Amino acid sequence: MSETAFGVALAARVDDMLAACTKCGACFTACPITDAAGVGGADPQAVVTGVLDIVRFGDGPEASRKWATSCIMSGECIKACDYGVNPRFLLSIARLAMTTAKNEPPARRRTGVETFRRMNQDVTVLSRMQLGDAALERLGQRPSNKPAQPERDGVPDVVFYTGCNVLKTPHIALLCLDIMDALDVSYQVMGGPSHCCGVMQLRAGDAEASGRFAGNTIDKLAQSKSGEVVSWCPSCFVQFTEVMLPTFARAGHEKPFDMTPFMRFVRRHLDRLRPLLRHRVDSRVTLHKHPGIAGVVEAATDILCAVPGVELVDLHQPVVGLQSFNLQMLPAYKRELQLKELEAARDAGIDTLATVYHSDQRELCAHERDWPFRIVNILEIVGESMGLRQEDHYKHLKITQDADAIMAECGDLIAQHGLDPDMARNVVIRGMIADQPLPLVGGAR
Ligand code: SF4
Ligand code: SF4
Repeated sequence: MSETAFGVALAARVDDMLAACTKCGACFTACPITDAAGVGGADPQAVVTGVLDIVRFGDGPEASRKWATSCIMSGECIKACDYGVNPRFLLSIARLAMTTAKNEPPARRRTGVETFRRMNQDVTVLSRMQLGDAALERLGQRPSNKPAQPERDGVPDVVFYTGCNVLKTPHIALLCLDIMDALDVSYQVMGGPSHCCGVMQLRAGDAEASGRFAGNTIDKLAQSKSGEVVSWCPSCFVQFTEVMLPTFARAGHEKPFDMTPFMRFVRRHLDRLRPLLRHRVDSRVTLHKHPGIAGVVEAATDILCAVPGVELVDLHQPVVGLQSFNLQMLPAYKRELQLKELEAARDAGIDTLATVYHSDQRELCAHERDWPFRIVNILEIVGESMGLRQEDHYKHLKITQDADAIMAECGDLIAQHGLDPDMARNVVIRGMIADQPLPLVGGAR
């Protein structure tokens, strides 16, 4: 699709939503972060009216601007709207409109390019510091001539789309593949920076580049036999299912595939999974939850409950946001939520805190050093029961909080992959040690 066609289709979708919105304010009332965003007492109808102004003109009242920039993508607003509008999408368009109004096109393009370049560097370095060539090839990060796994007629049942950032904690993505192997699902892995969803360009205000990146990736993803793409990353899922695919459809393109979050995919195959959960995992587990994608918390709960020996403990903590990363605009709120959850987990005497998404595991895992329970990804528990194991090297390295020790431990892989040691060290400090919203007890050692 040409850049112009994408822009026209996106504008048409936005116009439809502007026309459908009655400004009832129900979405604002349902939003869980209005207090944390400092707009809790505002008039819902006035705030929404202001958001529509921002979408149309690039600016609006302060409360509307604050709400739009603070959105953590919980999706409660989507459930609250009775008029078929997606307020989460409208707020992302409001952010796009504000960025567009503030910056000239070259500046927006530059920001998008720089953000992408840094993400590419972080993902490339951190994945290579943990994995050899065979594992990288398995994750689609090295050229491979092998057919889809397991080998069948060359066309995979599904495409497994990793997105980019899970490659920083690659044991999670490898466990996804191990589990699909055990379920006898054939798949082709795609992802990493060469299969960009375009979200960074959109955040930078470069909608055309975002559409171009996503369009290329959509063409690549449209390869599965079943027309199903199983996606790991919740940001990619929202970007494709709420922004890109509906816009491409609006431009007259046929829907190329359905996208399913990995947890819901595994939940669908739970009857086939159950007999494979052979080993007891005697553990009191609490689940770190985010509700941004419908059905994922419920699927993760069902999967955990199917593991023999697991006792699931509900800590009754607030459940908000798409994943931990998306709370970055409200850092104090995020720190408070994370601390309260760790305290509640300690007080409840659980022995395992299980994350679902990769950014949750990245941000929480090093706290294992200071609290009386382990912090693992849910798939590690499932894998344990199935007799599958992938080492969480990221947690092991991050817990040291020591860039020199990390560089020494990964020296062989840094040399093997020809990484520049100075650049790798910078990534370790910036992308691993400093990726710690709630400081560790006593700070870094
Ligand atoms: S987006 Fe929906 S819920 Fe929000 S104000 Fe408009 S009509 Fe009401
Ligand atoms: S997506 Fe969530 S945080 Fe964002 S506006 Fe809707 S309810 Fe509020």
